[in-house]
Amino acid sequence: MKRKPKLGQNFLIDDRARHAIADALGDVSQKTVIEIGPGRGAITEILAPRCGNLIALELDRELAPALAHRFADQPQVKIVEIDVLKADLASLIPSGQTADVIGNLPYYITSDILLKLFAAGSTGLLSHAVVMMQREVADRVAASPGVRDYGLLSATAQMNARVEHLFTLPPSAFSPPPEVYSSVLRLHFAPRFTELGVDPSGFDRFLKQSFAQKRKTLENNLRAAGYSSSELATSWPTDMPRQARAESLSLEVMAELYRSLRGNQQN
Ligand code: SAM
Repeated sequence: MKRKPKLGQNFLIDDRARHAIADALGDVSQKTVIEIGPGRGAITEILAPRCGNLIALELDRELAPALAHRFADQPQVKIVEIDVLKADLASLIPSGQTADVIGNLPYYITSDILLKLFAAGSTGLLSHAVVMMQREVADRVAASPGVRDYGLLSATAQMNARVEHLFTLPPSAFSPPPEVYSSVLRLHFAPRFTELGVDPSGFDRFLKQSFAQKRKTLENNLRAAGYSSSELATSWPTDMPRQARAESLSLEVMAELYRSLRGNQQN
């Protein structure tokens, strides 16, 4: 079977790593697990006997039927030939259940997959995910405010999940080896919108506006997004420097500013 580099096909060959990834989901005997990009089944074959229900989403037209054939005698395993970004996760999960997600992700669509998982997590469909991605992306997802890697992806991730960095693997853990290191994260979906008193779609938009240009201060990004100087002056928290950048501020502070702007707009 020919490998398709365009589909991000770097297969995991490190035995300890694939067991560590599967183990990181914990006890899944009563759970539905969705695997993204099972490939040649390196993680699938470990999880299959452990899961209540394993649904593996694979886009490759050759790999998907080969896997379906291989797991044909395991009725708890379902291989779906589909683009994960087009999959309707809600329809795959038995109603009333929450699912876990696992995957050595196709790196070319990592951010889109993460956004899809956060959206599903915010509706209560997902409980945990153990996902491998390029190390630099994982560092951004897990970064804290004030460090170089912190940005819109970090803020979005941390509004939706607690992020745990598990371990990093060298290129030699894969065949063929990619050009980058890879890191595994565990996400505990726990949206913070209610706790921080913000509406999800409005606050998502506000974050995008706030981080629009890294070189600009938060105030300048918000002015470029249409907020007037006077409404920013009225709403600006007294203890927050006017020169602050979104990259240095906690989600609590960002939410405080958003609530204040919204409150003043409504008055
Ligand atoms: N899980 C396997 C492993 O660890 O060896 C394969 C991981 S490989 C990095 C990524 C896998 O995702 C490949 O099997 C690839 O065909 C699949 N893939 C790529 N794009 C996809 C998409 N849009 N939807 C579903 N699977 C996709």
